[in-house]
Amino acid sequence: MIAERDTEVVIDPQVVVLEDDPELRSLLLRGLREEGFQVMTAGSAGELLALLPGKQPDALVVDVGLPDADGRDVVQALRAQGTAAPVIFLTARDALPDRLAGFAAGGDDYLTKPFAFAELVARLHALIRRGGADLSAQVGELRLDPGSHAATCGGAVAELTPTEFRILARLAAKPGDAVRRRQLVEAGWPHGAIVHDNTLDVYIARLRRKLASLPGAPELATVHGVGYSLR
Ligand code: CA
Repeated sequence: MIAERDTEVVIDPQVVVLEDDPELRSLLLRGLREEGFQVMTAGSAGELLALLPGKQPDALVVDVGLPDADGRDVVQALRAQGTAAPVIFLTARDALPDRLAGFAAGGDDYLTKPFAFAELVARLHALIRRGGADLSAQVGELRLDPGSHAATCGGAVAELTPTEFRILARLAAKPGDAVRRRQLVEAGWPHGAIVHDNTLDVYIARLRRKLASLPGAPELATVHGVGYSLR
């Protein structure tokens, strides 16, 4: 079902739920479907990683405490593979506030269990609106290959480090939009490392050189007072 809302065309947004508690998982599946989302669920990190290839979800709901992994590491792995969809983390009540803040990175969000279902729905709508519809890591002819951390354009290939790849993928997720320096630091160093201002500058300079070596690649422009934009 397609509906016109403001200027954008909205197709039922697709949400992936990663939650190991079977009761909560089926409650989220039913509830989110009733709210008009397309929903896929997984009960473990392994199940999710098997489910995702070829899918372009609009948002993910990820439990942090999983039997086979930490939900934050799962999301970091997905980010490194070029998944730009926003994430709502579900966390236990006793998680420390500073740790919560640390992984509310890259425009993501978190909810502490137990949470009100309506709150989850409201946050999902807000994140999906902010995230926009185009989450593919491709800008013009530029393609990002998460497997090899390579950027290709105009028949040429630039090898990127994992950090360079994550920063470029963050920019490529919103082509033309200014992305804040803080958001790029959170994307590049998802474990909350202390990153000095000039470290990001060094990575941006390297990315510019690598993009410049690709014929027809977009430019990494400085947006003064804000951050950077790929266009
Ligand atoms: Ca759990």
